[in-house]
Amino acid sequence: MFHLPESSYKALAQFKNVPPIINPTNIQTITDINYLSDLENTYNIFLERNLQLLDLHNIIEDLLDIRDTISIQICRINRAKQIYEYNKSQQEQNRSIQAHTGLNLTKNQKDQGYILCQNSLKEYKCGCKTIQYQKPIQNQSQKQITVIQKHQYCFKHLHYLKTKCILDEELTKINMELSSITRKENEV
Ligand SMILES: [Zn+2]
Repeated sequence: MFHLPESSYKALAQFKNVPPIINPTNIQTITDINYLSDLENTYNIFLERNLQLLDLHNIIEDLLDIRDTISIQICRINRAKQIYEYNKSQQEQNRSIQAHTGLNLTKNQKDQGYILCQNSLKEYKCGCKTIQYQKPIQNQSQKQITVIQKHQYCFKHLHYLKTKCILDEELTKINMELSSITRKENEV
């Protein structure tokens, strides 16, 4: 159990609205961010209000330690959340890139009846490969043959493709931001 010296408790008894005295080690196991934010707030208000008196009783250090541990724990949780979100978006991006690259047809394309074009496999010096599939003409009204080209990227060009996706996404955000400047609701 975490205890402040007996004298500190006696001194604290004179104060109103004393925040809960929690072992800093235990704070590091709390994951409820709302609870932690309330706790941090309570500490900040209490410390601000009683700074000089707490200093006089030599208990300011202990309370600041607890408050700092709470603040650090909040940052830690937020950071973990950010990393989780980042990893999730990375995975989604990889999945969508994988779905659009590679030489095989997707299930949906297979179901539509696409078949491999003979001798359409091309290999490039960098390691990229392309291949073509086509949909056989099924009725007279269809005049054009629809062709799908599949591309398997080499390491270098896959990296460029991923970078392009990221930049495209950024550009979309920037364009939206720029075009929103002159929207009616933004007028002063
Ligand atoms: Zn390549």
